[in-house]
Amino acid sequence: MPLTLLKYGLPGDHVPTRDIPPTPDLKRSYDVAIIGGGGHGLAAAHYLSKYHGIRNVAVLEKGYLAGGNTARNTTTIRSNYITNQSIRFYKEAVSLYESMSHELNFNVMFSQRGQLTLAHSDSTLRSFHLRAEMGRHNGTRISVVDQQQVRELCPHLNMDMGGQHEVVGGLWHEDGGTARHDAVAWGYAAQASGRGVEIHQRTEVQGFDIAGDRVAAIRTNRGTIRVGQVIQAAGGLNEQVARMAGIELPIRCFPLQAMVTQPLKPFLNTLVSSANLHTYLVQSSRGEIVIGGGSDPYQLAATRSTLDLKEQLAHGAVQLFPFLHNVKLLRQWAGITDMTPDYTPIMGASPLKNYWLDCGWGTWGFKATPVAGKYMAETVARERVADILQPFSLKRFETISLINEMGATAASH
Ligand SMILES: Cc1cc2nc3c(=O)[nH]c(=O)nc-3n(C[C@H](O)[C@H](O)[C@H](O)COP(=O)(O)OP(=O)(O)OC[C@H]3O[C@@H](n4cnc5c(N)ncnc54)[C@H](O)[C@@H]3O)c2cc1C
Repeated sequence: MPLTLLKYGLPGDHVPTRDIPPTPDLKRSYDVAIIGGGGHGLAAAHYLSKYHGIRNVAVLEKGYLAGGNTARNTTTIRSNYITNQSIRFYKEAVSLYESMSHELNFNVMFSQRGQLTLAHSDSTLRSFHLRAEMGRHNGTRISVVDQQQVRELCPHLNMDMGGQHEVVGGLWHEDGGTARHDAVAWGYAAQASGRGVEIHQRTEVQGFDIAGDRVAAIRTNRGTIRVGQVIQAAGGLNEQVARMAGIELPIRCFPLQAMVTQPLKPFLNTLVSSANLHTYLVQSSRGEIVIGGGSDPYQLAATRSTLDLKEQLAHGAVQLFPFLHNVKLLRQWAGITDMTPDYTPIMGASPLKNYWLDCGWGTWGFKATPVAGKYMAETVARERVADILQPFSLKRFETISLINEMGATAASH
């Protein structure tokens, strides 16, 4: 064994710093309890403690920090949605990513390399013109590009001229990018816990004590706590957690899978997606090709992956980049996504006065981590739903004010 390892490793004066302290005992009460220690719950904790001075906060996480969908997503960040409400919301998300490393004093490796959505038919191209108009109207960087421009943006792409999947153009979204998912979660966790927020891992919410129209206490596997206010950000288990509080959500769970190849030399400098092929690809900073697609077509609350989906994604990836045909796959995984009927999240008030919802994030919620955290914190601090969140209320399903983003979500997330 090297002597320097003994010399510096054994004495106690070179103790590594910890980004978050070990899980403490639960206190008897908290001003705010956040259910779910994923990106959304942790971001809300950060904003509550930094911008609203609310620090008597417990984040209750049944597993380990950010081990839910935050750990499983493919990190597409973009604002090229269809409706005004969504574009405005996700545009702010992108701008918060642009300054996130500075905000968190933590390198989240935000890489704004643009997203290219491929059109394989003239009708798709026509719908892209609408999206580009909507995006530009709301101030995002987005345009329809022709075949030649697609070639320039993505020189290694198989254009399949004259073939079944000929690329006839695309939707180019310069604001699109990616970030390290674990860095985002750990950055928020480190900031929040540095200001006194308690992060309780292995702490499962198992029930609620309701008094009138309020949650009085939360029952966990480690004891019961009294709470002033509650934020629910439980990812794939949002429907179940809400039901424990007596709230029925229009959410159903579907598995979403992804996979990653061995590292390759850099060849892909944009995010590329094809709704026709139900496939999108991005090259990670390590050179791996991350490949994802649409949700599994059946409800299931499980994180197993399937050969069927792997074959489908491999088909799409090789169609777009034929030289990937002999590349090795390293991993395949799945998350449980909490899907809403209009492919849009549910944020804000619930039937219980002190219980706030941050759910229905389905296959698209990583990009929203900072903006949801920011405005959920504002909502709780002021006990009034922030203006930007108003369109995303649970009530929209009663008033038939749905925000249909199915076309913008498909296989792009
Ligand atoms: C394969 C895949 C690819 C994706 N790709 C993208 C993408 O490219 N771009 C994008 O924007 N989004 C993407 N998403 C979606 C994105 O991952 C999620 O929308 C986002 O991570 C949701 O964050 P969250 O913090 O709300 O949930 P999570 O990260 O799931 O955190 C919720 C936490 O709540 C905890 N919890 C649940 N029940 C309880 C309980 N009873 N008590 C205590 N804790 C509980 C869970 O353990 C979990 O850690 C993808 C998802 C998957 C699965």
